[in-house]
Amino acid sequence: MKRAKLHGVGVALACLGLTCAAGAATPPQAGARADTGMLGFAASGAAREKNLEQRFDSLLSASEMRGWLKQLSSAPNQVGSPHDKANAEFLLAQFKKWGWDAHIETFDVLYPTPTHELVELVAPTKFKAALHEPPIKGDRTSSLSGALPPYNVYGADGDVTGDLVYVNYGMPDDYKELARLGVSVKGKIVIVRYGGGWRGLKPELAHEHGAIGCLIYSDPRDDGYFNNDPYPKGASRPPEGVQRGSVAKMQIYPGDPTTPGYASTAGAKHVPVDQAKTVLKIPVLPISYADATPLLKAMGGPVAPESWRGALPFTYHVGAGPAKVHMVIQSDWTRKPVYDVIAKLKGSSDAEQWIVRGNHHDGWVFGAFDPLAGTIAEMAEAKAMGQLYQQGWRPKRTIVYASWDGEEPGLLGSTEWAEAHAKELQDKAVLYLNSDTNGRGILFAGGSHSYQHLLNQVAAGVTDPETRANVQQRQRAYLEVQAAKKGASPTLKETAKLAANGGDIPISPLGSGSDYSAFLQHLGIATLDVGFGGEATQGGVYHSRYDSFDHFIRFGDPTFDYGVALAKVAGHIVMRTADAEVLPMRFSDFSATVDRYLDQLHKQVHNDRKAAREQHKLLAAGDYKLASDPMHPVAPPERLSDVPKIDFAPLDAAAKKLKESAQAYETAYDAAARKGLDIPAGQLQQVNRLMATLEQRLLDPRGLPGRPWYRNMVQAPGELTGYAPKVIPAVHEALDARDWNRADKYAGVTAQVLDSYRAQLDKLTALLKQGG
Ligand SMILES: [Zn+2]
Repeated sequence: MKRAKLHGVGVALACLGLTCAAGAATPPQAGARADTGMLGFAASGAAREKNLEQRFDSLLSASEMRGWLKQLSSAPNQVGSPHDKANAEFLLAQFKKWGWDAHIETFDVLYPTPTHELVELVAPTKFKAALHEPPIKGDRTSSLSGALPPYNVYGADGDVTGDLVYVNYGMPDDYKELARLGVSVKGKIVIVRYGGGWRGLKPELAHEHGAIGCLIYSDPRDDGYFNNDPYPKGASRPPEGVQRGSVAKMQIYPGDPTTPGYASTAGAKHVPVDQAKTVLKIPVLPISYADATPLLKAMGGPVAPESWRGALPFTYHVGAGPAKVHMVIQSDWTRKPVYDVIAKLKGSSDAEQWIVRGNHHDGWVFGAFDPLAGTIAEMAEAKAMGQLYQQGWRPKRTIVYASWDGEEPGLLGSTEWAEAHAKELQDKAVLYLNSDTNGRGILFAGGSHSYQHLLNQVAAGVTDPETRANVQQRQRAYLEVQAAKKGASPTLKETAKLAANGGDIPISPLGSGSDYSAFLQHLGIATLDVGFGGEATQGGVYHSRYDSFDHFIRFGDPTFDYGVALAKVAGHIVMRTADAEVLPMRFSDFSATVDRYLDQLHKQVHNDRKAAREQHKLLAAGDYKLASDPMHPVAPPERLSDVPKIDFAPLDAAAKKLKESAQAYETAYDAAARKGLDIPAGQLQQVNRLMATLEQRLLDPRGLPGRPWYRNMVQAPGELTGYAPKVIPAVHEALDARDWNRADKYAGVTAQVLDSYRAQLDKLTALLKQGG
């Protein structure tokens, strides 16, 4: 799935994961540091590695990638489909042919599929929704059978009838606004549009507010004709196009809903479905705007607030009613197999350290863009590395390539595998590198900031196919242009300024929505997530039958040059990490990021306090009442609670110490690098081992409040944003909930994990100093 959260059009295009305000970190003082060359290598090793990369690049073939994409996307490949299994077996055979030690690991997972769906308008007029995506001329696979009808997996079964209420994107603020209009969703069916936040929160919040059913439609304002000509003329969503997708409560835990925190292997104990915390309690269905139009048109009640209006040619009303809808969904709740393909290339001297690289292979229908455009890059990397291996290259560390199944319903394949191998991964994995969708445009990258400099060095060494500038220069130009736009955030401007002076491009933190979650947020494995995008206008066919080979070769990446570019970026990251003498990590980038996050916390408290005071003044003066139009009354907002002093002192102190320690490491590393990284093997091994497990120090074993599966105290998917990341999540979310005691408490907990990270960093710096 992944970028719909981001590539769900607007967001990724606007922020590409590299300029998101919340995530933008301040690169350390550009130019202040002596350049010690390729991170992790002495000069001679760096020259060898460069040479290896050139040979790797010459083995990548765009036309071969095109052939793979055509084959993999030639039939529906959702979990449980024959082609999903055939793709896994094809991938396995390829890995073996390329010289990898490969096998398939199977997990049985809860995966409901619809057996009956109905949406009909029963009053004031009658209309029956098609719930079907018809074939499109020129799109060769769109007439094939074998696809599931559009649905939202892990919604409840049900047969409900109720008045419709329109709640915009269905996010928390929309419900506050709805309340001010005097409209309730209790006992009603909610209709919301896609966008504005993660889809799984929409039915969940509807349920919390008392709704009995939920419809989610794609408004042409968000990914349809408002943006571009609809497919097949242009890339945008056609009238009948539907966005499928998971609505599991992945913000609690991803993976099989019936095996929370442990693997769904043979004999595993399953939580009964009605007690599975991530399965919803009300029925939910996704519909097209062709199907939504008669429903929305039949609605009355107050006119929708301006920001709620989409691009359909009539006036939007919020209801409730008089439009009354009957919806039914019944599903087959049996378990289905997922097939993870796991392939290894054994390391020579440090075989017990692993670089894990993954991309999923299951799609919602044909999945050309999501995920197969990423899969073919991964295949090209594996093939080229296999060839280099046959020619005598021996990576120091072991390389593990994974092609996950069951990502779309809820990161099933990657989560179950990571849970099954948790201990081994925490012992061995030094990096998890993820990709998912891919297309023309700018490199986006997120993850652990200790690998930010590696990412930047790699990006600077890969040529952008369209402009012939290097990929990092293009990122930088994009960032500067975005920052120059009217209304650009101060954070974005500041970030662009630092990047403009030659500093690294900051990577963003990760929320959820692709296969990195179990590694980064549950096991504490340092992670990077990469891909190209922003020009590939795939948002309009995202998770629909029209995300096809034919759409991709017109609008996604017609020459497959961005497939090759992704293979270069990911391949270079993998090989450098596998071959480096000292793991290619740098900690000043992390400490600068922590500083930025703390700054955001301080600002949020300041702004919350100010907003509360201003609101109290308006309430006391009776201004909301006086300003409201008596013929269209809007009630005053609920009174905000006062904001007391929050004790951030422990966090500030931990960040300060971390900064000093990161600088001390850098000094020690630079000194060692100047001496050719000539460190005794035993010491070097200890240094690398301590580096590899550093990210695990950011875990608190008790996890985030209310969702113990998420243990990383620095990055997590937001409880009320879903895919979008929250940084220092336990504290930020306490502030969002205005739970001031909890904010105080978790400022202390987060300070403790930062201190523990810093202590381990000091230890390895001391070892490096001794050795160098
Ligand atoms: Zn995906």
